[in-house]
Order: sequence, then structure tokens, then C-alpha cells
Amino acid sequence: MSAGKGICLVCGEPLAYFKEAQDVTCQICGKKETGHSVCVEGHYVCDACHRAGGVKHIMAVCRETDSKNPIRIAQKIMSDKSIYPNGPEHHTLIGASLMAAYKNAGGDIDLEKALAELQKRSLLVPGGTCGFWGTCGAATSAGQWWSIVSGSTPMTRDPWAQTQRLTSRILGKLADLGGPRCCKRTGFTAILESVAFAKEMHGVEMETPEKVTCAFYARNAECLKEGCPHFPSKE
Ligand SMILES: [Zn+2]
Ligand SMILES: [Zn+2]
Repeated sequence: MSAGKGICLVCGEPLAYFKEAQDVTCQICGKKETGHSVCVEGHYVCDACHRAGGVKHIMAVCRETDSKNPIRIAQKIMSDKSIYPNGPEHHTLIGASLMAAYKNAGGDIDLEKALAELQKRSLLVPGGTCGFWGTCGAATSAGQWWSIVSGSTPMTRDPWAQTQRLTSRILGKLADLGGPRCCKRTGFTAILESVAFAKEMHGVEMETPEKVTCAFYARNAECLKEGCPHFPSKE
């Protein structure tokens, strides 16, 4: 497997995306399904194979950390080789980092149960929802976090509204920055908006670094560089 600049896990070459789903076979587990991307060599890797190692790592870090800073938790997780430059493992990573920091900052939750629920929900969100559904998986992950901490269900009134409010705020910010996708940029944006939201709604004060600087851009061929607020400045 390769964690290089290209995101094919088999050969490291860049992926090509289709507008319409095609029949594909996972190069790793052999599963046949429909998908929206193969690499230039024709390899397809299913979401389950892409995120298997990453999700295990995310859960292990978030169960153990005593940090109140979800950006630092996320950056620590992202620096592990099980997390690729982009991919659906981020749909678990963002909400789990928020869950751990929220608990450590005084949030009233059973962390073990909350993480288990977040894992179940987040695995239902496939890769590519940003471009194909109009809802970035990092925003969805933050929405799952808030749904769990606020007790939202389809039948609740205020928690339901709050959850839509949070994801809509995040998606607005992402739209202002524009594409193409970057799971680090969208993840940092989702976390920063969520930290402000938790303070407003529940008075829970998580911490954030003074400046959020990306250490992962060299592995992302489509980085916006100076167009991204997290690109390291030259000075
Ligand atoms: Zn390949
Ligand atoms: Zn597979």
C-alpha cells in the first residue's frame, strides 16, 4: 500500500473520478460494487479497505487522549500512516476528535459509548460525498458529533435544529473556500466551527491553536496552496 502523493492505495497513482458510477472490483478484498473512481492503472479500492486501519487508529487515540484541543488531536491522528491524504476515514476522524476534546473540556457524555455510536454512523458515509452529494463528510462527521452530544433524533426539536445549524455553518465556510476537496482543509474548518458552536450552545470551552497550520499539503496534489487559510506562510 502507498501513502504517497497519489491516492491509489495499490500503486500510488492519482485517481480519476467519474460523474456516473461504474462497476468496479476492489483490488484488495475482491468485493464487486459500483464506484466513482479508479486510479490511472485501473485499480479500485473499496471504502471499507481504505479506512479499516485508520478507523481503528482514530478510536484508539480518542479513547486515550486527555487533550481539550480537537485540532491537535486530529493532527496527531492524521500524522499516522493509516490515515491517507484524503479518504472516508476522515468522516470518522473529525467527529471522534471533537468527541474526545468535548469530553475532556467538561462535556457531559459517556465517551466510550459516544465514540462507538459515532463510529457506526460515520462508517455509513462513503467517500466523495462532498462532490457527489453536496455534503462534505467532515461536516457530516461534526453533525454526527453534535447529534450525539445533544441527543438529536429525527423527532427532536431543538437538538434537531442545532445539528442542521452546525452543518450548514460548516458547509457555508467550505463553499466560501471552494474545491477541489481536501480532507485536511475541510476537517480543520469543521472543527473550528464546531468549537465555537459548543461554546455558544453548551458553554463547553474546547481549546484551539492560535493558528492552524497544515503539515500535510505536500501529499495533496490538489492543495489550494496560498488559497487555503492553513497553508504555511512563507515568512
Ligand atoms: Zn493504482
Ligand atoms: Zn475492499
